[in-house]
Amino acid sequence: MLSKLTFISEVLNKVIDSKEISDDDAYQIYQESQHDPSELYKIAQILRNKQKGTKVTYSRKIFFNLVNLCRDSCSYCTYKSEPGQSKISMMSKSDVQNLAKIGKNYGCTEALFVTGERPEQKYVEARNWLKENGFASTSEYLIHASEMALKEGLFPHTNAGNLTKSEMNDLKKTNVSLGVMLENSSIRLTQSGMPHELAPSKHPKARLRVLKDAGELGIPMTTGVLVGIGETAFEIIDSIYAIKEIHKKYGHIQEIILQNFQPKSDIRMKNIPSPEEKYFKTLVALTRIIMPQMNIQIPPNLSPDSYASFLSVGINDWGGISPLTPDYVNPEFSWPSIDTVAKNSFNAGFELKARLPVYPELFSFVDPELKEKILQITDSDGFVKTEYLK
Ligand code: SF4
Repeated sequence: MLSKLTFISEVLNKVIDSKEISDDDAYQIYQESQHDPSELYKIAQILRNKQKGTKVTYSRKIFFNLVNLCRDSCSYCTYKSEPGQSKISMMSKSDVQNLAKIGKNYGCTEALFVTGERPEQKYVEARNWLKENGFASTSEYLIHASEMALKEGLFPHTNAGNLTKSEMNDLKKTNVSLGVMLENSSIRLTQSGMPHELAPSKHPKARLRVLKDAGELGIPMTTGVLVGIGETAFEIIDSIYAIKEIHKKYGHIQEIILQNFQPKSDIRMKNIPSPEEKYFKTLVALTRIIMPQMNIQIPPNLSPDSYASFLSVGINDWGGISPLTPDYVNPEFSWPSIDTVAKNSFNAGFELKARLPVYPELFSFVDPELKEKILQITDSDGFVKTEYLK
């Protein structure tokens, strides 16, 4: 067997020569980096700089918490509400319209629409709310809400769980991209006592089906993994390879989010600590090694004291940051101000650039009418022109 440094250097040479590394290589790198991941971090950073230069991106967004009832129940979820709880959100059409106008005034370019998984299948309250607004399903409402946001000058990006192929095809007319977190490709995490036991929509087969359908439709997709929910490191590596396989076929995965689990007092996993930073960073760096050209994102609000350090392990994106609305998925973590993110990025040697919810390299996937609108507000590199951020 090669020595640790030699083995990692061999792999570096492979990825720098644009050769792929196998999952066995990735397992071995993980194991050999556990004690001292510095060589791995360095390699990830070299690759990041080679592929992405010294720009780091974010999307200026408004978070539309359209409806947070959900037919599923993940052990780590604090987003989901039950009828009667104070955190319930069921936005009316006028709520959507008003928030879109405010978002536009704040210089936002992304309308992020988030819902629970098919709430109307479980709750009469959701069915009545849809009926009052003139719709038979959440996805019908999403189409209408997206049209409203688009009219106000925002670019919609919807994250509504496992949409069908036909629903995604409809949303493609107004949404420049869609999102669905894979979370993890391990079936073990759906078993009794595990975080996805009561969430059939999180079965890896179901999630991978959505990613494949989106690929067949040519829709730019955001996906990612949730780290620290009882998985093994190898299961994270397998999840990244599962995403890579689909992307190889369709070329439509635009970014991978690595999200670090955070315990909350109102969830079943409240006593599970968040993952250790070294473990998390090692997986971030490995993701860069496995997919050198991918956009890799971590949300800055979930690591408020240390997020800038993730720039040294291979990320190139901070995801959506809202100057106005909270992160309803992690409400206890407020967004850092965009100026603070820009300053911290600058101090680490990077320039913060605003992007749309769709990345420039996937503009060609977008509906031609939407693309025309995109080109009006972006510069020659595909970033948002500064005058639209005022
Ligand atoms: S994480 Fe999503 S699918 Fe799971 S319970 Fe929460 S809203 Fe529902």
